[in-house]
Amino acid sequence: MGDTRRVVLKMSGEALASAASDETIDADVVERLAGEIAEARQHADLQLAVMVGGGNIWRGTTGAGAGMDRATSDTMGMLGTVINALALQDALEHQGQPTRVLTAVHMAEVAEPYIRRRAIRHLEKDRVVIFAAGMGNPYFTTDTSAALRAAEIEAEMLLKGTHGGVDGVYSADPKVDPNAVRFESISFMEVVAQDLRVMDLTAITFCKDNALPILVFDLMEPGNLRRALGGEHIGTLVR
Ligand code: UDP
Repeated sequence: MGDTRRVVLKMSGEALASAASDETIDADVVERLAGEIAEARQHADLQLAVMVGGGNIWRGTTGAGAGMDRATSDTMGMLGTVINALALQDALEHQGQPTRVLTAVHMAEVAEPYIRRRAIRHLEKDRVVIFAAGMGNPYFTTDTSAALRAAEIEAEMLLKGTHGGVDGVYSADPKVDPNAVRFESISFMEVVAQDLRVMDLTAITFCKDNALPILVFDLMEPGNLRRALGGEHIGTLVR
């Protein structure tokens, strides 16, 4: 395999929406992200799998908070991620980038089921793999699912693209505290001990236990996705 890098990119569902559009998915934003992915794939020896979230459509906790059954509400969230995955697939294929959507919840008419060996095979054949429906279990997030899949397919790193305008991990909330500083790198233990909101705790401890580094970067800044995929150290490295 030489120097081929294999990474998993976690893309929040909200990254696919935008203030400029009333739609749950802004086609222009998806096209821009897909363009950066296709460009990075051309310039770097890179095997890429993307875990898409569903927060622009539904979050399990929203329904649970309103009295819905949690497992049902989470299932709705997982189905939302499939909608996003199809949008991303469409945009990537417009860029000439072959893709496969692999779903953790079986829906054979729509996408292939997630099978670990098959995911790896697709990556080896230069297809971008899009993981949909998280890990298929309620009570989990797509952050944790991204970490799990990254470990399963032996990715070297998890790339966590943020969409809230914060370009890494800070000592405090930079939107509230003007003295907050961004860490170049930080340990898993510090993230946990200081309760720094990088990803949910389940995802962080999983990455720690499995020595899976996380690069946290601002996905919405044009060019950043291409840089992160190209192996540049932008944002904050958690390891
Ligand atoms: N979800 C789930 N199990 C999984 C992954 C996701 O139940 O393995 C549900 C959960 O309800 C979550 C929703 O899908 O709120 C959308 O995913 P997430 O909140 O992670 O999306 P993001 O915030 O990244 O857009």
